[in-house]
Amino acid sequence: MRKLKGEIIFEGLGLHTGEFCKVKLKPRERGYVFVKNGKEIPARYEFVSDTNRNVTLERDGERVMTVEHLLSALYGLRVLGAEIEVEGPEIPALDGSSKIFVERILENSEEAEGRVYNLKYPLEYEGKRAKILALPSSTFKVSYAIRFEDKGFSQFFEFSIGDYIDKIAPARTFVFKEDIEWILKGGLGKGGNLENVLVIGESQDWRFPDEPVRHKVLDFIGDLSLSGIFINAHFIVLMGSHADHVNFAKLLAERGIWGDEMEIGEIFSSLPHRFPFLLVDKIVHISEDRAVGIKNVTINEWFFEGHFPENPVMPGVIQIESMAQVAGAVLIKRLEGKRLVPLFVGIEDVKFKRIIKPGDTMFIYVKLLRFGGRFAKALGEIFVDKELVASAVMTATFVEG
Ligand code: ZN
Repeated sequence: MRKLKGEIIFEGLGLHTGEFCKVKLKPRERGYVFVKNGKEIPARYEFVSDTNRNVTLERDGERVMTVEHLLSALYGLRVLGAEIEVEGPEIPALDGSSKIFVERILENSEEAEGRVYNLKYPLEYEGKRAKILALPSSTFKVSYAIRFEDKGFSQFFEFSIGDYIDKIAPARTFVFKEDIEWILKGGLGKGGNLENVLVIGESQDWRFPDEPVRHKVLDFIGDLSLSGIFINAHFIVLMGSHADHVNFAKLLAERGIWGDEMEIGEIFSSLPHRFPFLLVDKIVHISEDRAVGIKNVTINEWFFEGHFPENPVMPGVIQIESMAQVAGAVLIKRLEGKRLVPLFVGIEDVKFKRIIKPGDTMFIYVKLLRFGGRFAKALGEIFVDKELVASAVMTATFVEG
């Protein structure tokens, strides 16, 4: 991991608007935040407003276009945080790759301590044409394939994080010659030229024979930074667009299992519940505002004895209680050192879609929707075999403990 040491200025024309743009990078403890006209726009998927041939971030009327190559440099070098002050409509194109961003960031940064999470369960995404799969791995790897069937063009590249500076950062953005006219008609690409864009179908010096697919890896890394987390995993991507990459970053942040774990002993010290009323076996993910618990359901559960003797079905109220307990784990973590304990006070929007029976493994997902001084609201969802089984919105208040 790295941290910035001082300010870095980049300036030049924007790739799409062709207008002059200036960017000033400043050190920041954690996270990437753009600042435009004094307003902050966090580099997170929630603020993506356009993914047509670039990634645009927008908040309260302020927008910044073509953020992906600068974000790729920051995230590829594992820079912990940066404030990015922007003048003009977009980030300067420079040479169409992340090379210059990387060189200047390396000169103005130093090694730092930071946390990289490990993905623990596979995560799958399917877009219109794209497929993205993330597999648990102790390093950051990307295997990327592009295939433009109508153009008879396909490439594949395999990448590990240590190769970012030499093998990915210099790869420039690309376009097919026959697409240029309609890109310009769409009002984009005005700052493009034969120096900063590879035109497939034009004779040009390429930096690598597989420069286009390497650039897709560069884009993917930039777009993945919008998840807001540093994560080790093996990402396998087939024909991803910016929209697919951003959707995947959201999926990783909201559904990925990569946070801290709590074994049963830690659950005992966090939750007061005991047999027969402890309804989670293990917490496989716990982070700021989210937790995922697992419960293996067996025929020996006490409630199956009477619910129902000939037809064992897990009662709905027990399912709700399991969600409330996982929510309790997140709240207790958030309330650490505050002498407050959460008390379950309300429930809305309860849905049961399928029965839970002996042999099922419940994945209990909880996301905090609100967390105030005296109360919290959380969405709970139970999945069995990747199928949504039950969901509910729960409310808790905090009382002196
Ligand atoms: Zn790009």
